[in-house]
Amino acid sequence: MPYTYDPQNIFARILRGEIPNRTVLETAHTLAFHDIAPQAPVHVLVIPKGAYVTYDHFARDASDAEIADFHRTVAKVCALLGIQPGEGGEGFRAITNAGEHGVQEVPHFHLHILGGRPMGRMVA
Ligand code: ADP
Repeated sequence: MPYTYDPQNIFARILRGEIPNRTVLETAHTLAFHDIAPQAPVHVLVIPKGAYVTYDHFARDASDAEIADFHRTVAKVCALLGIQPGEGGEGFRAITNAGEHGVQEVPHFHLHILGGRPMGRMVA
């Protein structure tokens, strides 16, 4: 089944500038912004600018430049927010929800970066 991208999803609207966001970092292919309903003191969403529904969709179809830019942006966001465990920060959790079983609400691939407090054990 091909992935079907809904261009009216809320992150597509953010990327088009139709809805405001609190940007942490923007690069050629990637946008990082604060989650509107933070689950932790640090809760940032990192999204590619391209039209990808889920992580596997992005990993399969994005260009090497987009994939590299995305992951470098994740590292830069962690550095900017001081949560890099190797650089004096206290660490973070990165999560992506995909599809129905992943309980994905917004159908534009995004990575949640959570930090600023101990996260507790993963419970599935
Ligand atoms: P879930 O809500 O189950 O975590 P997702 O993984 O799809 O599902 O996450 C969507 C995230 O997008 C949520 O954390 C939500 O708070 C966030 N969100 C929704 N609308 C906005 C917005 N306009 N600006 C920033 N974050 C948003």
